[in-house]
Amino acid sequence: MSLKTKGWRELPIGGLILEGGTSEMYKTGGWRSLKPIWSEEKCTHCLTCWIYCPDSAILLSDEKVQGINYDYCKGCGICAKECPTKVKAIEMVEER
Ligand code: SF4
Ligand code: SF4
Repeated sequence: MSLKTKGWRELPIGGLILEGGTSEMYKTGGWRSLKPIWSEEKCTHCLTCWIYCPDSAILLSDEKVQGINYDYCKGCGICAKECPTKVKAIEMVEER
């Protein structure tokens, strides 16, 4: 099946995306105003951020965090809020 992503003017009121199975096509990272910055040095790989991220944007390899997928991260900040490290392994900064 070949589907073309719609621009915001073509979407129904409310920005609804009604076609199923299209999540990967819409790079929702463009909606972000804040950006999570992950620190490899501070991270303990507890995976709490991975559990809580609503967009599955925490990248893992061998059960360790490798970074953040900015194509789909919407910058909600949940990962930074839930990260249990005292030194804050994820910090939110303004998107530029
Ligand atoms: S800011 Fe939100 S969407 Fe982005 S990685 Fe963190 S929890 Fe996921
Ligand atoms: S919650 Fe914090 S310490 Fe745990 S894996 Fe994520 S960034 Fe690392």
